[in-house]
Amino acid sequence: MPPPPPSNSCAIASIRKSGTEKIQAHHSQGPPKCVPSPDRTRDGEFWFEDGNTILVARNVEFCVYKGLLGCRSPVLKHMLFPASSQLQAKTAHSEPCSVIHLTNSPEDVRHLLRMYMPTDNGGCVSRLSRDTPSYHMLSALVRMGHKYEIPQLVQNSLAYLKEYYPTSFNKWTVREHHATPGFQAVHAIGVVNLARLTGELSLLPAALLNCCTLMSQLISGFAREDGTREELALEDLSLCFSAKGKLIVETLHIAAHVFDAKIPEASACTTRKECLRELQRMTNELHEHAALLVHPDPFEPLVDIYAEWDLCECCGDMVEERDVRERRAAWAHLPGILGLAAVDGWGDDLPDECAGAGVRISGAEEED
Ligand SMILES: [Zn+2]
Repeated sequence: MPPPPPSNSCAIASIRKSGTEKIQAHHSQGPPKCVPSPDRTRDGEFWFEDGNTILVARNVEFCVYKGLLGCRSPVLKHMLFPASSQLQAKTAHSEPCSVIHLTNSPEDVRHLLRMYMPTDNGGCVSRLSRDTPSYHMLSALVRMGHKYEIPQLVQNSLAYLKEYYPTSFNKWTVREHHATPGFQAVHAIGVVNLARLTGELSLLPAALLNCCTLMSQLISGFAREDGTREELALEDLSLCFSAKGKLIVETLHIAAHVFDAKIPEASACTTRKECLRELQRMTNELHEHAALLVHPDPFEPLVDIYAEWDLCECCGDMVEERDVRERRAAWAHLPGILGLAAVDGWGDDLPDECAGAGVRISGAEEED
């Protein structure tokens, strides 16, 4: 159904000069303002009395400055300034207040407007460089930026996500429990979908890894702000189910290597007998930490499962070095474990020896 014809006029005229939108001063007589439709809800956050276009999202109306949107997005510019409207703008003191119907949710539109509509102090409500964005904000900005062709918005949003879903082992491990501020664990599903939408595949391994740690939410997904469901595509769901077992096997292999009751001949350990006995004890007691060991995230430090140990300093350092080395080796092969193609830049901060380490998934071969 085509949108209804514009029925309102604005308090200001938006006139094109030399290709630039300029908002003119109020007319003395004051042409009619944008008036909300009685059949729709006027948005409580974005209704500028001197706005010059009404955006309609579902049943919500936003009265905003179209020049500020049109200069960001060629798609919105085409919608907001159709050829006939441009002609009218050049020849009239005021132009009708256009009414543009969007297919997005009001929640998504609000997130976009917070980036570009002015506040009383001359800034904007949201800035990625200033805020700790929620998942819903990031998701809306990426999807709206992608749809309306605002590349800078998409790139800035993805750059933020790359900090928390990185290709770098070091970046991944410095995050406590690999968490993203303002995100819930289940939001990794949405990050996978954003990576698929935009083709930013470097986000996939870390995001899918997080998905693999989900329980029933892996299937059910979660509700977006607008009530619609965010779920994994069947292809990505299949990858997760195939990878879960492989990741657990990785964790068990790492544990076996970290607490291996061997001390190299070249070690400076002077209490070899006692240290070997302690390493054997730690290996023997691993079963007491089974719940941690069958967790499909091999990148949590396993040395933390023992609150204390009776090793000499030299052997303690050896165990901690093994822990880092083994987790690095697993990280190097994470895309393959997840069934993904090679990812550009993956593990570039890893030592060369990691690239040559074998993938230890023989105990969890994929069922075809
Ligand atoms: Zn020792």
